[in-house]
Amino acid sequence: MSGAEFVFGSKPIDIASGDGVTLTDDEGNEYLDFGASYACAPLGHCHPDVTDAVAEQAAELTYVQGSYPVDVRTGLYDRLAALAPGDCEKVWLSNSGTEANEAALKFARHATGRSKLVATMQAFHGRTMGALACTWKDEYKEGFGPLAGDVEFVPYGDEEAMSEAVDDETAGVIVEPIQGEGGVNPAPEGYLQHVRDVTADAGAAMIADEIQTGVGRTGDLWAVEGAGVAPDIVTAAKGIANGLPMGATMVKPWVAADAGNHGSTFSGGPVPCAAASATLETLVAEDVPGNARDVGASFRAALDDLAAETGAIRDVRGRGLMVGVEVKTGANPVIGQLAMSHGVLALPAGRTVVRFLPPLTVTEEHTERVVEGLRDVL
Ligand SMILES: *Cc1c(COP(=O)(O)O)cnc(C)c1O
Repeated sequence: MSGAEFVFGSKPIDIASGDGVTLTDDEGNEYLDFGASYACAPLGHCHPDVTDAVAEQAAELTYVQGSYPVDVRTGLYDRLAALAPGDCEKVWLSNSGTEANEAALKFARHATGRSKLVATMQAFHGRTMGALACTWKDEYKEGFGPLAGDVEFVPYGDEEAMSEAVDDETAGVIVEPIQGEGGVNPAPEGYLQHVRDVTADAGAAMIADEIQTGVGRTGDLWAVEGAGVAPDIVTAAKGIANGLPMGATMVKPWVAADAGNHGSTFSGGPVPCAAASATLETLVAEDVPGNARDVGASFRAALDDLAAETGAIRDVRGRGLMVGVEVKTGANPVIGQLAMSHGVLALPAGRTVVRFLPPLTVTEEHTERVVEGLRDVL
């Protein structure tokens, strides 16, 4: 770690390389990546399809500004339009999740001519001023105010509170189909449809933040599709380019028609576009979301058994390969022991939830190793 680093804390492992589900440190020790890539490597590390696409594009054309059509960018727009949930077929590309949400909030305000936003308690939407304003935890906001203002928070999953909060001054409601950082909290049955109904009635935009749940993670390409709901705006990032920086804001035509003046120099850079196209192509062709659904289901079933067996687990939550295990002790000691004694890298979601976001290509052999490791630690 460099002495110049001041934002991130330092983990005691120096990662040197990645291959599929495996990360290797500078001493040659191997780790199963069930969290270190933060949902950013759905195809696994250094997938050859993505690596080749990036290498070829980097040799061909690294950058040209977004108003110049480039095949690789046009191809990604078309691919995303075809894969987007519902008719969110107009696409804005950026470089991160928070930028995708920032654009979503701006578009919602402009297209409705209103300013009020509704977000949910425990939500995480990013760290730039607008996305941060819609993020719940004070810890992330302390000392950075004033933020974008005019955000009302309602309890996640509470239909009545949502109905009361949304009115004819509401520009948009931003909601995660499953809250990630907030503790792996799946929306209760019918909740997303309710959000859809009340926003439609009020003429407000429903914004689904699929930055963590999207790109196959929950077993469907988009979690809102699994829920049968068609939002006005869907945001994606994390896994969309298998580790290269890319955000996407996919919007319905009525939003795109009056979205206002927005832009970014690096929007749709050819190299990230090549990575995203290759990622989506392989993900769909090999039905990687189907693997996430199947392996995720058996993983959670094994974790439920472990909960019954050990009595050390309060709850097992999630869908597909977005899995949270609420432990009765703190999450961090469990995560530390999993890494050091079992070579399994996981991440926390709040103080008590151990979260698993592995590549979507993992097999039951991998998840069994994680369950064995957890059994030993708990
Ligand atoms: C990670 C995340 C973000 C922010 O994405 P960044 O790329 O870190 O800016 C926003 N929303 C959700 C649900 C996330 O998981």
